[in-house]
Amino acid sequence: MAFTLHNHFANLGSDFYSVVNPEPLQEPALVHINHRLADDINAETLVAEPEQLLAWGSGAALMPNSEPLAMNYSGHQFGVFNPDIGDGRGLLLGEWQDKQGTLWDLHLKGAGKTPYSRFGDGRAVLRSSLREHLIGEALHALSVPTSRSLCLVASQEQVVREQFETAACIIRVCKSHIRFGSFEQFFHRQQYSQLHTLADYTVSRYLPDLDSRANPYEALLQMAVDGTANMLAHWQAVGFCHGVMNTDNMSIIGDSFDFGPYAFLDDYNPTYICNKTDQQGRYAFHRQPNIGLWNLNALALALSPLLDTDTIKACLMRYEPKLTGTYYRLMARKMGFAEGSSAEQRQDLINRWLALLAEQKLDYHQSFRQLARLHNKEPLNEPLQRLFDTDKGKHWLADYMNVCQNDRLKDKQRVEQMNTTNPLYVARNHLLQQAISSAESGHYDELERLMNVLAQPFCHQQGMEPYTEPPPDNQKGIALSCSS
Ligand code: AMP
Ligand code: MG
Repeated sequence: MAFTLHNHFANLGSDFYSVVNPEPLQEPALVHINHRLADDINAETLVAEPEQLLAWGSGAALMPNSEPLAMNYSGHQFGVFNPDIGDGRGLLLGEWQDKQGTLWDLHLKGAGKTPYSRFGDGRAVLRSSLREHLIGEALHALSVPTSRSLCLVASQEQVVREQFETAACIIRVCKSHIRFGSFEQFFHRQQYSQLHTLADYTVSRYLPDLDSRANPYEALLQMAVDGTANMLAHWQAVGFCHGVMNTDNMSIIGDSFDFGPYAFLDDYNPTYICNKTDQQGRYAFHRQPNIGLWNLNALALALSPLLDTDTIKACLMRYEPKLTGTYYRLMARKMGFAEGSSAEQRQDLINRWLALLAEQKLDYHQSFRQLARLHNKEPLNEPLQRLFDTDKGKHWLADYMNVCQNDRLKDKQRVEQMNTTNPLYVARNHLLQQAISSAESGHYDELERLMNVLAQPFCHQQGMEPYTEPPPDNQKGIALSCSS
């Protein structure tokens, strides 16, 4: 083999993980190879031989130089601290280096039991693995920072959830598997030397160009604050609900990570809760930005032995302006506003537009696409026409057109901007469900089709019109079980 994995994290030593080998899946089958990701990280050699990839992706064989390990970490789950979480069913296989020298963690999720499995079986079901495999591509295509998945492997191995299901694996790829909870565990156990070591490792890996005069731990917390704010701004703009924003599921660099019962909005309902077990709505769509800050506070506490209080406060104060600045910039693009038009006026129009969508229960994604049609003088769909027949709608439309007419974009440029920002195809749950049902009966073509559609979410694709439609009313805004 022409490549070898790196093991920088493994070199930190046994305080940071347990060495575990994967338990091979029984009767595995390669469902999907993510060639787009392989191209992006120059990992063509990893996916070139399907038989070989199947062996790696099912845990039957190890990649050259792989030293698999289960990482340890704590975390706040639904606001409650759990000191002992750790990788209960996934293993860090090692790091892959691309041509630019960037290191990518390869992580086999669903790889069997580890010392952190507690009562779990160490497996992940096909349903949730398919969802994680797909969402990485869907978010990536919308420019949302995210982990991705290199391949999906199914099996005949039965596992028990609410019913019998089959086990599967993915090879998750992202720059970091260090979580807020990775730091929380050492703070909780007063293991300050390990806390330092983990912080130093994180700085050296993710902030290699840091000025030698800068305070590295301040830079680390700033990175987490800025990254989280940026991620949250993107989630809110694209209408994505993560569902389980526990601090063990928060990546230190601000990648969308560890997906469970996630969902995209259908109708614009800001109080939407996608996770059936989240009865209090802690992770409801409109609460996500606040929870991001709550989680950062938990991280800041864990880093408090390394930083003074004023520095911590200053870092946390960056969150709100960074989040709102990025959010309104993204939303302004969606609305078709030129950069530089009056910020206050634009924010007011954006907020009033969202209030109208909520009141009229309109589809979040289609409504933006329809708005672009307005500038092309094309007829609108019935729901939007209805909105603009109301007094409030008329009033808003007049103000909106007024702002558009006074900025420097030509209609053609405006439509172009809107139609390359607002997706025509969205990874809605009812579409995912079709791909899951087919895959559960051994047919993988629907997954392939959906992944191809979602990889190019902005352009019309011949024959794919049904994929642009929202679900029927009875399938809208459902909450999913978090069993996975
Ligand atoms: P999650 O909600 O997927 O982030 O998982 C929370 C914790 O539970 C992590 O430590 C997982 O590794 C662990 N876990 C979830 N499902 C299983 C399972 N089937 N077997 C073992 N551990 C699991
Ligand atoms: Mg997790």
